[in-house]
Amino acid sequence: MSDGFAGLAPCVHCGFCLQSCPTFLETGDEADSPRGRIYLMQGLARGDFAPTDAALSLHLDRCLGCRACEPVCPSGVIYGPALEQARHQIAVARGVPLLARVVLTIMAEPALRGPAMTAARLVRRVAGWLAGKNRIRFAFGMLAATAPWNGNLRKRSHPDAAPPAPAPHPAAPVAVFLGCIQRGLFGHVNAATRRTLAANGYRVVDVAHQQCCGALHAHTGLHRDALRLARANIAAFRAAPDAGIVVNAAGCGAQLKSYPGLFSGDPLEDEAADFARRVLDVSETLAATGPRVGAPLPLTVSYDPPCHLLHAQRIDAPPRAVLAAIPDLRIVNHRDADSCCGGAGIYTLLEPAMSRAVLDRKVTALAEDAPDVVVTGNPGCIMQIGAGLRAAGLPSRAAHPVELLDHSYRAAGFYDRITLDSVSP
Ligand code: SF4
Ligand code: SF4
Repeated sequence: MSDGFAGLAPCVHCGFCLQSCPTFLETGDEADSPRGRIYLMQGLARGDFAPTDAALSLHLDRCLGCRACEPVCPSGVIYGPALEQARHQIAVARGVPLLARVVLTIMAEPALRGPAMTAARLVRRVAGWLAGKNRIRFAFGMLAATAPWNGNLRKRSHPDAAPPAPAPHPAAPVAVFLGCIQRGLFGHVNAATRRTLAANGYRVVDVAHQQCCGALHAHTGLHRDALRLARANIAAFRAAPDAGIVVNAAGCGAQLKSYPGLFSGDPLEDEAADFARRVLDVSETLAATGPRVGAPLPLTVSYDPPCHLLHAQRIDAPPRAVLAAIPDLRIVNHRDADSCCGGAGIYTLLEPAMSRAVLDRKVTALAEDAPDVVVTGNPGCIMQIGAGLRAAGLPSRAAHPVELLDHSYRAAGFYDRITLDSVSP
């Protein structure tokens, strides 16, 4: 593991980052700001604070890990790896909460994850009716938000208005990273990813034996688990050495791109760097081809960039290019778009009060624009925002950008000539 604390060294304590931090905006407490947390982490690194220090844990636990503090920092502080290292030290010293341990064990073990996801998909059928504001009903709202989006479309699309299809570019091989939540609850997004890539001329190849990316484990301080999962994924993708690795979950993409840091000083370091160079968000891959323009969808859409796409990977234009390939979409920019939704992996389970407070600000902003769909390229954000919209009684739904592109392409007839062996998760 590389020295994550080294990224904090450029901090000059200027405070420019404070107003970008959702938790500081909630509490107004310096210790809940990036600058305050950097002070705490540097103290931990020096040994001034023990990893069992209650105040240290309180304020680092409250951090969303959204990394909104990084792009606004004039000194170039790299905050994310430092937080992971601090949480690793805290996890070693005091352990992780039981709820986190249970969830992360299920995510990492396919034998547990399969039945858990099957049960979740069954409950999902009634989750929309049970969704609401309190903690239990909010969880049902999160589950309901994992259902395929198609609500506003059947009545309103205009398949006859499809523009002529340009010839796809020569086939380049790509393999879709399937994820754990993504595979279990968002199989329709994985299928849409495969179809839209194929419609843009990519040759989609399958890679077996993929595992969870390990992001949730790394963010919780479970370094050994994150390392084990990373090794398995690097080994799995040796089966398709020429294929780009396409990711449709921003949190997974950021983690896969950070594998070289996990293997610093390890014999696998160079291969991890090669692996990371192959990783692209699905929006980057599609934007590289244009992407092809589909059929019109007359919808009002609000784009809400996931923190791990916008801040951690610094990807902004490609998802907008994907939406621009859908004629008649009216994109509205809401004032809280660049801020975290409060989902932040399992943060929504572990810090529910702060998570909801951060989400409420976003939902209030979204309510002003009343979009048909809020699009965001990360499963946790779809679940969090989708549940927030339901809890607020708003008719808007959350969806992944490729779901909309997929509907547009289907209406345009682009799939008539595509044969994919399988579009199942
Ligand atoms: S992290 Fe950057 S913006 Fe924030 S206090 Fe340090 S130098 Fe200033
Ligand atoms: S990662 Fe997000 S919540 Fe944590 S200090 Fe930075 S801006 Fe604040």
